[in-house]
Amino acid sequence: MKLQSYWLDTAPSFDGAAITPLPTEVDVVVVGGGFTGLSAALRLRQQNRSVVVLEADRVIGEASGRNGGQCNGGLAHDFAALAAEIGRERARAMYQSYLDAVETVASIVAEQHIDCDFTRCGKLKLAAKPEHYGKLEQVYRELAAEIDPHLEMVPAQEMGSEINGPFFGGLLQKNSAQLHVGKFGVGLAHAAARLGAQIHEYTPLTGLRQIAGQAYEVQTSKGNIKASQVLLATGGCATGPLAYFRRRLIPVGSFIIVTEVLPQSLIDQLFPGGRNYVTSKNIGNYFRLTPDNRLLFGGRARFAMSNPRSDEKSGVILRAAMVAMFPALREVRIDYCWGGSVDMSADRLPRAGQHKGLFYALGYSGHGVQMSVHLGQQMANTLCGKPSLQPWENAWPPIPGHVGKPWFLPLVGAYYTLRDKLS
Ligand SMILES: Cc1cc2nc3c(=O)[nH]c(=O)nc-3n(C[C@H](O)[C@H](O)[C@H](O)COP(=O)(O)OP(=O)(O)OC[C@H]3O[C@@H](n4cnc5c(N)ncnc54)[C@H](O)[C@@H]3O)c2cc1C
Repeated sequence: MKLQSYWLDTAPSFDGAAITPLPTEVDVVVVGGGFTGLSAALRLRQQNRSVVVLEADRVIGEASGRNGGQCNGGLAHDFAALAAEIGRERARAMYQSYLDAVETVASIVAEQHIDCDFTRCGKLKLAAKPEHYGKLEQVYRELAAEIDPHLEMVPAQEMGSEINGPFFGGLLQKNSAQLHVGKFGVGLAHAAARLGAQIHEYTPLTGLRQIAGQAYEVQTSKGNIKASQVLLATGGCATGPLAYFRRRLIPVGSFIIVTEVLPQSLIDQLFPGGRNYVTSKNIGNYFRLTPDNRLLFGGRARFAMSNPRSDEKSGVILRAAMVAMFPALREVRIDYCWGGSVDMSADRLPRAGQHKGLFYALGYSGHGVQMSVHLGQQMANTLCGKPSLQPWENAWPPIPGHVGKPWFLPLVGAYYTLRDKLS
């Protein structure tokens, strides 16, 4: 079994990184070479801004190259509860933003000719208990008429054509998609580099000194750059002088296993719908088939951070969950196991805005494949003085008691596990 991301292992390598020294001055420094940073770099170059991307390690080496490959439309939140809390129009704008984000990914794939197995497969949220189906129906009634025309209920008796597992019906979101995130990320990086973005790998940001307004002296391991603007796109692995943001984001470990290639007969039997699947529990699982017909199965598994030395423990937990759902997979070999860090905000909603002249797009809370690409583009437009068309520039208080390691995560995990047992 390989303890590394299937996506990174099966994608071509990125060979467009800058080999020249850092420039002394640039219009925009983008910190982070994941989907947010690369998408922003592409859009900035399309608007003729000079751009340097600083990546502490390799491009898409963190969440963007380690995720479940689900590019889903719609908020994961309970829409009615969110609307009651923040107002229906704002909740609606947030929901719409996720629908728009899927379209942003689709249009970049098409315009930049990125070969990444992008498929409009739909997402099926699976009722893990009989009573969860009623809750999904409530969501459907709330949204289908005027907010999301792509929704459809799949009752229990019709599930045979979708999936063969212990589920009690589901809610289908038809415009959701899936893609090979390794190929997409490398294609996105090549597209940005082709247009002239300088992507510097293994070049961490080490310091920031505000010169005036939005202008910063950006300090890196390889020298300093004067930037008229800085965009932080550092995800859940933010290192360096970013304490303000770390106090607002909880890094949460999420883990994935990938099976050996499954015979077509087993796929036809278990996953005839070929969707993105997500279960309805708070601490649930997500899964899909890979382009070469393996099952990718993910979840929180343990409330621990990902670490190549201990990810295998999460793999054992995930395998047990997978076999409990699909006993026919009992003898199937696991070929890959890895983990990554999710940048969780307290309300599980992203944030994109400006703090002390620094621009940022962060906090995707585990639903960022589509939104990171979308907000990269949106923030690039904002930096170029265009009106903001995204609803994520909201108040962002620090998380009380959170100054370093998220010591409280096991307690939060225990709380939600108990809620899953009781609900
Ligand atoms: C296991 C897992 C499964 C997931 N599954 C899904 C899914 O199926 N669907 C979905 O929608 N979302 C999913 N997500 C979330 C999604 O992958 C992320 O929201 C998205 O990739 C975030 O992209 P990003 O560019 O903002 O961050 P990242 O991809 O994390 O990129 C940030 C980059 O910044 C760099 N960096 C950090 N600090 C510095 C510094 N000081 N200097 C220079 N560089 C720095 C990091 O090295 C990193 O490469 C998943 C996440 C994980 C971990």
